[in-house]
Amino acid sequence: MTNVPPTIPDQLVSPYDAAIRADRLSLLFRQSFPALFLSLLIACIMCWTLWGSISPHAVYAWISVLGVSTLIRLIMFLRYFGTRPQGQQILAWERPYAVTLMLSSLIWGLGALYLIHEVKTMQQGIVLFFLAGMLGGSMVTYASHRVMTICAMSCVMVPSTLWLYIQPGQAALGMAIASTVMIATAFLGTKVLSKAMQSSLLLSYQLQHARDIAENMARTDALTGIFNRRAFAECGEQAIRLCERNAHPVSILLIDIDFFKHVNDAHGHGAGDLVLKKMGHLLESQFRKTDICGRFGGEEFAVLLPNTEIAAAKILADKFRETVADTAIPWQTENLGVTISIGVAADSYDLESLLHRADMAMYQAKASGRNATVCL
Ligand code: GH3
Ligand code: MG
Ligand code: MG
Repeated sequence: MTNVPPTIPDQLVSPYDAAIRADRLSLLFRQSFPALFLSLLIACIMCWTLWGSISPHAVYAWISVLGVSTLIRLIMFLRYFGTRPQGQQILAWERPYAVTLMLSSLIWGLGALYLIHEVKTMQQGIVLFFLAGMLGGSMVTYASHRVMTICAMSCVMVPSTLWLYIQPGQAALGMAIASTVMIATAFLGTKVLSKAMQSSLLLSYQLQHARDIAENMARTDALTGIFNRRAFAECGEQAIRLCERNAHPVSILLIDIDFFKHVNDAHGHGAGDLVLKKMGHLLESQFRKTDICGRFGGEEFAVLLPNTEIAAAKILADKFRETVADTAIPWQTENLGVTISIGVAADSYDLESLLHRADMAMYQAKASGRNATVCL
């Protein structure tokens, strides 16, 4: 069996593209902060190594210009960390990052070109050694952003490499070829690293998405789209704890469709399902967003009303009961109509006991002739 590397289909990349770009950039900022100082330090060490063979004035000028560009980058980093951009706001920092990185890389590359042009063949090898170090460092530091890495590496390496190509002698040509091979290898390495990062970020977004879907499915009643019993209990419990902490009242409604079996028997299960769906829509549209609605199974629903006294809950229940009774549900050539019985309970911060009392009240409403509301 052969191992086929996973490919990233375009249509899957697009929904997460901006988020992945933002993640990469955020990683770049965190990862490359030490590189600010390291590149200046390496420039200083290289000059110190070649000291005596190069003009001190030129070295001071180069290190000063490099210092200024490092300072500009440092200010940009501090502003970025200070503003703490989130999500796609991070993308606004892509351009400043790229511009300042290109600037300092170019200063590095031109400085190296000056040095390599000043010194003898043996010392040119030393410059190349430092350049190779910078190349490897760039690959590791900026790998999360492929374009940025390639541009930075090119700015550092290409001026000296090109210059070596046009010099006479086998040594210069050898160094130019070695440098070209290093650049090509680094480009290839960057491509591999960048692809691996893209795949892993994409996978983490897809997993997150799949988890959200699974969580949503586990909480939602498939037919009506409102909470199922488990999710109702979870959210209801939280809402009750909040009411208890603030000493606010809480009420609960238990709703059961009257003679629902008749709907199924007379019109079929499709009609019954349609009525249940309509109940879900009505519950969502008639109650406040802060009220918690759920399907308890079959043709039974519950609504938890935070900050609601029993008297207000009774008024809301009657209003909803009348709305249901007045609603015609078109089914094939006729209109279906149902009524509901509602049990209302309050004065407790225990969900189970509230539900138990609402259930008893609902059965009293049934016993009283249905299409009624009873409070307990
Ligand atoms: P009551 O007024 O006493 O509540 O009578 P009822 O007919 O509404 O109550 P009963 O418990 O006798 O019947 C409930 C029916 O609900 C029986 C069951 O087939 C039906 N039912 C439960 N879940 C679904 C569903 O998801 N879809 C459909 N179409 N019917 C369902
Ligand atoms: Mg029932
Ligand atoms: Mg019923």
